[in-house]
Amino acid sequence: MKNLGIVRKLDDLGRIVIPKETRDLLHINEGDALEIWINGSDIVLKKHKTVICKNCEQFIEEHDVFCRYCGTKIREE
Ligand SMILES: [Zn+2]
Repeated sequence: MKNLGIVRKLDDLGRIVIPKETRDLLHINEGDALEIWINGSDIVLKKHKTVICKNCEQFIEEHDVFCRYCGTKIREE
């Protein structure tokens, strides 16, 4: 993990701004969805990615093991 040396305060609604340089570096654009993960006491943000099931061609979550529509195994656990 890389420390960018950036400290931001939460506003009164619990929001922070992800610096533009960080968003640009990771190709995160306005309207993109981010997943919020917990790793011990750390909060981790990940780009929400979808993939297309090769069997039924529905959009499914990248981290799914099985397609939620047709049940095809997408990847190894
Ligand atoms: Zn499927």
